[in-house]
Amino acid sequence: MQDFNETFDFVIVGSGGGSMCAALVMRERGKSAIVLEKTDMVGGTTALSGGVMWIPNNRFLKRDRVEDSFEKASLYLDILVGDNDDTPGASRERRSTYLAHAPEMIEFLIGQGIKFDRVRHWPDYNDELPGGLEEGRTVTAQLFDINRLGPWRDKLRRGFLPLPATNEEAFELPYYKQSWRSKMIVLKVGIRSVLARLTGRQLAARGTALQGRMLEAALAAGVDIRTDHPVSELIVENGKVAGILTTRDGKEWRIGARLGVLVNAGGFACNQEMRDRYQPGTSKNWTMAAEGDTGEMIQEMMRHGGAIAQMEEMIGHQLTIPPGAEQAQFKPSAQALTGSPHCILIDRAGVRYMNEAGSYMAYCQGILARDRQVPANPSWAVFDALCMRRYMVAGTMPGSKKPQSWYDSGFLRTGETVEDLARSIECDPAQLSATIDRFNRFVRNGRDEDFQRGDRAYDRWLGDPFHKPSPSLGTIEEGPFYAIPVVPGDVGTYGGVVTDVHARVLREDGSLIEGLYATGVSTASVMGRSYPGGGASVGPSFVWGYVAARHAAETAQ
Ligand SMILES: Cc1cc2nc3c(=O)[nH]c(=O)nc-3n(C[C@H](O)[C@H](O)[C@H](O)COP(=O)(O)OP(=O)(O)OC[C@H]3O[C@@H](n4cnc5c(N)ncnc54)[C@H](O)[C@@H]3O)c2cc1C
Repeated sequence: MQDFNETFDFVIVGSGGGSMCAALVMRERGKSAIVLEKTDMVGGTTALSGGVMWIPNNRFLKRDRVEDSFEKASLYLDILVGDNDDTPGASRERRSTYLAHAPEMIEFLIGQGIKFDRVRHWPDYNDELPGGLEEGRTVTAQLFDINRLGPWRDKLRRGFLPLPATNEEAFELPYYKQSWRSKMIVLKVGIRSVLARLTGRQLAARGTALQGRMLEAALAAGVDIRTDHPVSELIVENGKVAGILTTRDGKEWRIGARLGVLVNAGGFACNQEMRDRYQPGTSKNWTMAAEGDTGEMIQEMMRHGGAIAQMEEMIGHQLTIPPGAEQAQFKPSAQALTGSPHCILIDRAGVRYMNEAGSYMAYCQGILARDRQVPANPSWAVFDALCMRRYMVAGTMPGSKKPQSWYDSGFLRTGETVEDLARSIECDPAQLSATIDRFNRFVRNGRDEDFQRGDRAYDRWLGDPFHKPSPSLGTIEEGPFYAIPVVPGDVGTYGGVVTDVHARVLREDGSLIEGLYATGVSTASVMGRSYPGGGASVGPSFVWGYVAARHAAETAQ
């Protein structure tokens, strides 16, 4: 019998998405729960994120009379994700469990006082498929006053875009020059910001609001939350995971778990050794995941026999990293730029090879797949003077003067003509001219015959709503011409241990590791090798945390 320093009903490793949700389930059932976080901040990558969850058939869709159902979402996932032997995390049974429990989990959290809404227009990333939803299925937390956390305020990890603007409002901000509606939104957010300051509130949005609200609810429910508590080992007793080993004030500390241990310790985005092994061609310098995403709990679960799958997959996010931004947590995205009219992505030979408006995961899969055939990592985003004037480039405002270091370092390449640009990026001028002529012809004919960019609602949503006739397609013809490198960055990894419909960790032979549950990106995603819509990582982290805690509590009863 192990000699534990303390014992709780449920021990949760990591303070990310599903952790506090699982802890709240336990508390609601009168069980004790502890969340152990190894860094000095609560919230994980979830707190850094856009904070949206992909929740089909949710109450906000019903409220807004958007037609959705379990069957519709199921059809969508059947086609997009499919049944494959090499994606056990995304088995049909697990997909169905996810779809059944996702809206229920949201109802549970609303009952716990968490305030949500939906983002009104965030199309599914393959909305063209049967069951895909043009309006999207994203659920997000309402703005949150961080000061409500009292002494925990400074322990909450902070996300990108520290503005008191909802996702919907934030999407409109870049168009303030073109639209009165956007100007009004700028004004509204400005007034909200001033009022908040005058009334002593610190309003957060997105992942910070989500995790702030979850932390507030968890503390109020009596969940024990500890930062600076890295978990290094799972403790097994009589063949069952019975606790964990952590450190407290520099000394070993053993915590027992009566009903089970839930691992929600993120993926391995910041572990280059694991990346080289499972995801060659990617780099920890290109991730925006939080620094604690180092994979040791996946390795610890493997040590106890946990099967792993989908380890090659990451939630790719196309990045363009100018000099000086290499160490930044939030590196400039190339998503909006290459999804805008007047811009395309090419490999190093000057050939266009994808729909630049695909999901960020598909986009980066595309770069890596291309690079296995011909040099394409990094690829080049190629655009013209009109694009430069109208759209943000690597985090700088439309039309603004670009830093001299961009030119000096070779980050930003230019040419008065397409041929000049080709020489500057060392590709065949005839090839680049042919690529651009072909694209321009498609634009003039109104259809991208090669990659169908602009056909989906999602492609158009990513583009410029004020660009006519297509928000997605525009010619590249006004010199000077520009190119910047695009790399397959990411916002996290997407593979890990294989879990069953109750979020229990499985061995290779399909048997259970008793007492061990896992959720989030520590696991092989229920979405397989696909990203069906905004929130396809945070949503599952919450849902499987909810499912795991319910199972553990109910089994005990
Ligand atoms: C800028 C950005 C925007 C994004 N936007 C979205 C979005 O809107 N929707 C979406 O679905 N996804 C989004 N993503 C991806 C998403 O945020 C992550 O994939 C997701 O949050 C992972 O959640 P998780 O619960 O699995 O892990 P996390 O939230 O990362 O939590 C894991 C926690 O475990 C801790 N930990 C690790 N090891 C240990 C250990 N040994 N002991 C104790 N603690 C440990 C870590 O420090 C971390 O705090 C975004 C990511 C970024 C960077």
